Amino acid sequence: MPKTKEDKLQSILSEFSINTLNGVIVFDGEDNIIFCNNAAAKLYGFDNYSELENLTFRQAITHCYTTKKGLIVNTDDLDTWFKYAEKIRRSDTHRRFEIDLNDGGWHLVSEQIVDDNCIVVISIDITDKKHAELRLAEMTKQLLVLATTDALTNTFNRRHFTEQAEIEQQRCKRENKSYALLMLDLDYFKSINDNYGHACGDKVLVKVAEALKLELRQYDILGRIGGEEFAILLPNTNKSSALSIAQRIRESIENLPIKYKKNTLRVTTSIGVAVDLNADKNLDELFLEADKRLYKAKENGRNLVAIGKA
Ligand code: GH3
Ligand code: MG
Ligand code: MG
Repeated sequence: MPKTKEDKLQSILSEFSINTLNGVIVFDGEDNIIFCNNAAAKLYGFDNYSELENLTFRQAITHCYTTKKGLIVNTDDLDTWFKYAEKIRRSDTHRRFEIDLNDGGWHLVSEQIVDDNCIVVISIDITDKKHAELRLAEMTKQLLVLATTDALTNTFNRRHFTEQAEIEQQRCKRENKSYALLMLDLDYFKSINDNYGHACGDKVLVKVAEALKLELRQYDILGRIGGEEFAILLPNTNKSSALSIAQRIRESIENLPIKYKKNTLRVTTSIGVAVDLNADKNLDELFLEADKRLYKAKENGRNLVAIGKA
């Protein structure tokens, strides 16, 4: 007797489900596995579909959990994991999510509720795409660091310092808090390069930046804004605090021994400080004032702090 159209379709679907490279798995309403192909068996850490047939959802997942094969069951408490999984499993007619496997692979899983409470699961290997995505995310992160950081001293570069300082300035303005800008320029730095070489000058810059970081609070902003020039924004800081912080910084640089080859070098810094008492100035005005004060500190003999209001 010739096959009916329905029979033909039935046998095509059956052959397709068994041989497709995508995983196909069917759970009945009580979460027993009533069909699965070889591709899906791998998801649960088995080599062959016959090992997975007749198991329940819980048994299949427990197999992954105990053997560390197949999909990653990321929990310390399997019972709670099951409670959560069983709660969301039938919460929607269609669900799509990504899973990662213990062998480093990734699958896109789509679940569909059919015939009342059965679930048909189709999984597609997206390992290559996922790895490309992760590489891209990592590269984007590195690019962001490169774009915002001064490579030598690992402090913010000038542009990023300015952006961050502007954000802080706006915040201080909203909260009606004063803040201060410090501009530092190392004294007689050229003579370090001239006497010991450029590599030594670089090392001094690195050590100075490290010392500065130690003196600052977590929310202070530090940037290298020129060759041997640093800027620091101190949010929520009044004039007397700004002065004492600047003095402390100046002393910490003065007392910083910098070893280079057989020499121990000393370096000092001059600091210009501008304070925006009502947080109503713009950053350019503050930079101008701090720069003016820095010039004063240099003029008055260096290794000094000079302070003023913007
Ligand atoms: P002053 O006390 O007036 O500030 O004198 P100074 O010698 O520090 O000032 P000057 O501006 O004459 O010299 C700054 C020097 O900083 C000149 C430049 O060669 C050096 N410099 C700038 N950037 C770097 C850098 O990245 N590495 C090193 N090693 N030197 C740098
Ligand atoms: Mg300079
Ligand atoms: Mg200098």
